[in-house]
Amino acid sequence: MKFPMLGDIATKEIVSIDQEGRISEAIELILEYEHRNIVVTAPDQNYILSVLDILALKAQGFDLQKRVKEIPLTPIPSMQRSKNVLDTLAYVSEGIEYICVINSENRLYGLISHTDIINNIDPDTLMNNYRLQDYLRLGKRMKWIGKEEITFKLLHDMVQGTYDNAIIVEKMKPIGIITTKDLMMLIKRDADLNKSVENYMSSPVESVSKEISVKEALEFLKKRRYKRLVVVDEEGKLAGIVSQKELVSLTYSHWAVLMKEYQEELSEINSMLMHKNREYENRASFDSLTGLYNRYKFSELYVTAYRTMLQRENKLSLILLDIDHFKRINDTYGHNIGDSVLKRITQTLKENIRNIDIACRWGGEEFLLLLPTATLQSAISIANKIRENIHAIEMEPTGGVTISCGVSEVRIGEEMEEVVERADRALYLAKNSGRNCVKSELDL
Ligand code: GH3
Ligand code: MG
Ligand code: MG
Repeated sequence: MKFPMLGDIATKEIVSIDQEGRISEAIELILEYEHRNIVVTAPDQNYILSVLDILALKAQGFDLQKRVKEIPLTPIPSMQRSKNVLDTLAYVSEGIEYICVINSENRLYGLISHTDIINNIDPDTLMNNYRLQDYLRLGKRMKWIGKEEITFKLLHDMVQGTYDNAIIVEKMKPIGIITTKDLMMLIKRDADLNKSVENYMSSPVESVSKEISVKEALEFLKKRRYKRLVVVDEEGKLAGIVSQKELVSLTYSHWAVLMKEYQEELSEINSMLMHKNREYENRASFDSLTGLYNRYKFSELYVTAYRTMLQRENKLSLILLDIDHFKRINDTYGHNIGDSVLKRITQTLKENIRNIDIACRWGGEEFLLLLPTATLQSAISIANKIRENIHAIEMEPTGGVTISCGVSEVRIGEEMEEVVERADRALYLAKNSGRNCVKSELDL
């Protein structure tokens, strides 16, 4: 297995504190080392305490002179540093963010994060971890000869064999190289091929140790513009020849084999990461109670809708909608019933708008609808239809609920805040006109 060991990829500069230490000491350590978290050590289990956790404690008015063990901490799993990065996949798929790396005496050795793990499962890592000797096929495609060998014989052998170069050795140490290309030059020059290869070889020949990594080898090839490497062992004796092409293709084929072997775990990680991404994205774009767009996302969508309006030279209107006496519902039936009313109204809103319309939860019990292509007049009709349909809902235990609406139409060149402000003023007018009604910017 050639993926890196945990010990190799772990961050070793970790800050840790014993669970008997004080929270204030943990804060000092975090600040001193400018870290985002600190590992809390206990006899049988390690925990992680993040800067955010500490801020939350402070916000709750928690006494920072208390001992770390008195706060609820997130336990983190520990793994031996000699374990392979792929052995962590089970934890990663459980959504674990950090893993403590421990040495053979179970002492804390380092910390690895989710990102460290993912970053280390790629072909680049393999190239870093394979040594050249892993790729050497000594004697298979390599030809080595003594310096006394007659050049013509070499030419003959090369034509017969499959190799395209020969290393000239002395006591097995490489002293020169001759390639098919060199032989072609000799033929062109009409050189005397009955002379020994010593006369024609390129010498000295640059070699590399079989201990270097494939990555280093590739960098070396690139720098020198060589196509192949002459590889030697500890004693400087010829160990093999590998070409650039072989290095790259072998790495990728090893990688492919490993990927296949760990397919299940990897696809699990993949889907988990995608899921997480979607979760983060949703958190930033949608309101969690109603599932409607939030204010932030709405502003983004508004820009696009505004541009489309300009391009197509049509209209864009807005309805700001507020539940009447919603506070009473909360006060009478409790917050949970209030929440379910919000959800029920959301459902009716969705039923009454088109696919191209954008509905957002603007604030507590206020909703904003953006209606592309709609004129002010049609937006007013839609608002009235929604108002009537909401009024008609038989809600338990609250009975009927009503809404008031303010409607405005987007003007060319204005900011979103301006058109929302007009709708807001119209809404205020609707509230003052007895609620359960629709007012527009025409009434202002
Ligand atoms: P008005 O007819 O003038 O709009 O009166 P109102 O009571 O609806 O208006 P007000 O703005 O005074 O009260 C809105 C209430 O909505 C206050 C707040 O507690 C409640 N609220 C805001 N967000 C939520 C929520 O997510 N869930 C619940 N249940 N209530 C919420
Ligand atoms: Mg309100
Ligand atoms: Mg209200």
